[in-house]
Amino acid sequence: MSNIRIFPRLEIPETLAAGPGPGNTDARVLASFANAGLADHMQADVLRGMVECKEMLRTVWGTRNVYTFGVGGTGFSGLDCLFSAILPGDEVVAFTNGTFSGLDGLTIRMKAASREDLSANPLDPRPANVTMVVVPHGQSVTAEVIDPALADRKPKWAFMAHWETGSGRINDLRAFSDACERHGVLGLVDAVSSLGIEDFDIDDFPGVVGWASCPQKGVLCLPLTYAPVSFTDRYIDEVKANGCYSYVHHPLLEARHWGIADGKDVPAGSYHRTHSGYAVAAFHEALRINLQHGKAQKARDYAHHERALREAVSAMGCEVTSNMTSLVVLNLPPSLAGREKELVQACRARNFGIWPTLSEPVQVRIGILNQLSEAAITEIVTRFAAAMNEVGAGINLASVTEGLRGYYKKLMAAE
Ligand SMILES: *Cc1c(COP(=O)(O)O)cnc(C)c1O
Repeated sequence: MSNIRIFPRLEIPETLAAGPGPGNTDARVLASFANAGLADHMQADVLRGMVECKEMLRTVWGTRNVYTFGVGGTGFSGLDCLFSAILPGDEVVAFTNGTFSGLDGLTIRMKAASREDLSANPLDPRPANVTMVVVPHGQSVTAEVIDPALADRKPKWAFMAHWETGSGRINDLRAFSDACERHGVLGLVDAVSSLGIEDFDIDDFPGVVGWASCPQKGVLCLPLTYAPVSFTDRYIDEVKANGCYSYVHHPLLEARHWGIADGKDVPAGSYHRTHSGYAVAAFHEALRINLQHGKAQKARDYAHHERALREAVSAMGCEVTSNMTSLVVLNLPPSLAGREKELVQACRARNFGIWPTLSEPVQVRIGILNQLSEAAITEIVTRFAAAMNEVGAGINLASVTEGLRGYYKKLMAAE
């Protein structure tokens, strides 16, 4: 008995989540989560909620793909479902340019590995049938890299991240989709960081047959809910014909929860996993918020506020190397080079959650998920400038905030 330990109730402080993700979940989403009644996964409103989520998700993705639904878990849960169609021995070309596409590449190598490949290197298999095309951190994956690789290898599958959050770079989705079509390749895309931020419709990219995103970034539904996925009929035909080595992330079996079977919408409600009514209610509200904001307006708002942050940190002497609109990835001024982690730690100690890059080179990442207001950006800029000054940057805070005010005023006048 004496070694049983009951810890005090866990208290988690409110932080300013100003990193690549997760973003601050909207109070409406949290209220939906907390106010849902206790109901099992077969209760009529829970089932109706899942069907309505499915329909809203199709609008968020911009698709008529019937196989559009949520996979319970984090972004990598949706990605695991997406990659489940890749079987041992399949030829794959994977383009990577940072932390997350790198981890996707690892997932792909695990799926495509033979038993021999796996036992030779269980945590990092290197099957010869997977070609990794590594684009340096800080650069985008472009047509010049994509087309020759697909023309040369003629793989069955190709993979790319749409927005690589590790380095803050947007990759050329148009070139990827076109090259997949041209070379008869099945394209798979990690849209974890772009869905709910960028204004795009996946049906405009027919070379891509499978997509996966996450609950915590653009969709903003962290109370761990659903990773949105969408599959074309072409993708589904592959899984129908060849199967996959997963029960829980099986694209056909998972779709049944959401009322999708045999390529069409059917009544929801056949058991194989216990969905949470709380999660369904939260996810439903997050999707409603996304649609109420409007895809085009939301994309414009992100671009507008990202530019404000970019100009402010540039005025502080930082060099921005990213081009995503939800995140700024920067090099500190030369005099502070090498102190990135120290700076980030100091901010995090004050509940100001910014991030370093997770792979080399070390840079600082500041995100604006759900921080779309002048007040919120000013708060982020002020706190970052104060932290910079503590390590001796000597920034004139008044002139930085004045510049920020000027930016917002100028744009308001132009509207
Ligand atoms: C955040 C992110 C992931 C991982 O998402 P989790 O929710 O942490 O599992 C994967 N890919 C990209 C591009 C991301 O930005």
